[in-house]
Amino acid sequence: DAHKETLGFQTEVKQLLNLMIHSLYSNKEIFLRELISNAADAADKLRFEALSDDALYEDDAELKIRVAFDEKARTITITDNGIGMNRQEVIDNIGTIARSGTKAFFGKLTGDQAKDSQLIGQFGVGFYSAFIVADKVTLKTRRAGLTAEHGVLWESGGEGEFSIETIEKPTRGTEITLHLREGEDEFLNGWRIRNVIRKYSDHINLPIVMNKEPVPDEDGKIDDSVIEDETVNKATALWTLSKNDITDDQYKEFYKQVAHDFEDPLSWSHNKVEGNTEYTSLLYIPSRAPFDLWDRDRMHGIKLYVKRVFIMEDSEQLMPRYLRFIRGVIDTNDLPLNVSREILQSSKVIDSIRTASVKKILSELSKMAKNEPEQYSKFWKEFGQVIKEGPGEDFANKETLAKLLRFATTESGSAEQTVSLEDYVGRMKEKQDKIYYITAESYAAAKNSPHLEVFRKKGIEVLLLTDRVDEWLVNSLTDFDGKHLQSVAKGDLDLGELEDEQEKKAHEEVEKNFEDLVERVKKTLDEKVKDVRITHRLTDSPACLVADNYDMSANLERMLKAAGQ
Ligand code: ADP
Ligand code: MG
Repeated sequence: DAHKETLGFQTEVKQLLNLMIHSLYSNKEIFLRELISNAADAADKLRFEALSDDALYEDDAELKIRVAFDEKARTITITDNGIGMNRQEVIDNIGTIARSGTKAFFGKLTGDQAKDSQLIGQFGVGFYSAFIVADKVTLKTRRAGLTAEHGVLWESGGEGEFSIETIEKPTRGTEITLHLREGEDEFLNGWRIRNVIRKYSDHINLPIVMNKEPVPDEDGKIDDSVIEDETVNKATALWTLSKNDITDDQYKEFYKQVAHDFEDPLSWSHNKVEGNTEYTSLLYIPSRAPFDLWDRDRMHGIKLYVKRVFIMEDSEQLMPRYLRFIRGVIDTNDLPLNVSREILQSSKVIDSIRTASVKKILSELSKMAKNEPEQYSKFWKEFGQVIKEGPGEDFANKETLAKLLRFATTESGSAEQTVSLEDYVGRMKEKQDKIYYITAESYAAAKNSPHLEVFRKKGIEVLLLTDRVDEWLVNSLTDFDGKHLQSVAKGDLDLGELEDEQEKKAHEEVEKNFEDLVERVKKTLDEKVKDVRITHRLTDSPACLVADNYDMSANLERMLKAAGQ
């Protein structure tokens, strides 16, 4: 139907736009990056769909993006001949803001403008960034494969609603016109626009064309009867270039483009692999955790290409969950172009690419931990909790992962996680054969636990584990370097060789003398406890609760209760 209707955005849209305008004020040029990246995605989608339906190209197979401006009308227009959208897709994709991730984003808002502004930097701003510089946005689009009368016109002032109507649109794809706000005239300038395009979108893998700037002749006259096109960007996929031809700045800009991040990445790894499986990977470690790091269903970040054709963005098959923060590109010649998700799931090629990519990332991290400890501690603060999921998920790399872990301990003296297991083992007491740890709900609770008394007395270091994930970590990581990880709050504390003969004798005597008391306490507590024992692990406190070696720890029990189980 061709009728025009006016629909409302979700209520949060005003808040979002407000925040965006405030927080991105010094960075507003990124609207162009976002719109160009959408246009490039649309071209990728068309290329992919056309693999099985050539007719989608109509008579126009030369995919490109055009950027134009009109000084008089004070508009900038970005046009693509990509996949386009039908009416319902327009409503679904840009008519609401209930897109995945947006909810999580709002959940994180604090109300403190300064803090929230920081947050938006980590959040892909996307299409709505147009409203940073525009007070009205007009979008015309037509989906590839539909006829001309199925065009769609969408318009909004970004306030609370948008209008949508069906129009005639002969050309396939999307055209977005920004009506600039008062004071944003700096963007009505060809050089400025070129600058921004080269800064953020140089390696978008299709041409971005603009009209050539008219050059005055000798008399200072401008002949605008002949308008020529010129390609503004390099239009090569950065990862296909050889490492020596890429500067650090280019790597960083490319990262910002693929990850939609404002900050530089912490590190990257670019590999061209030949041999059994042929592929190129360019993988980045971000410097800050994305806002949806804990949304385990939101697996995105690695773009898969086959022979330079974008196939899908999906990390599930390409990265284990505990590396879900990794961003980048994998491009292989060894998969068919019409590869489906199902094929990916059982593909040997994908398996081997994934295995090798994980190894690369872990070795990159190991190198960083060794050579740039400050950088690594920054990494650990952001992603340590996710890395701790690793030993339970990735058996093959358990050893490497264990070395990457960092903990607070009774020796480190602060809640900051800085001690590696190698550090710990390196300063173990003579005759100590276990790595001791305690799990608790907070650093303070761990540090002040009565279970630590005897360890303090003997000067034995204990790991203080207070992240939620730690319970699972110690379940999967039971040994390191041949030493068992032992909870100080579980079982019969046996300090083994760490006790001397005299102490042992004294303990036996105490146990004999208090047999009666133990019996009485047992009778009184009856069913409430499994056992009552004399303990030597306390020096100041009169009693403490312990769990059996194979029982749940008290901390895990508390967490499950809190989760309603
Ligand atoms: P994202 O790109 O992260 O999905 P955006 O806010 O940038 O988020 O875009 C929202 C959605 O709108 C896109 O996923 C896409 O479906 C649609 N879209 C935006 N621009 C275009 C375009 N030029 N051509 C086709 N679809 C588009
Ligand atoms: Mg986008």
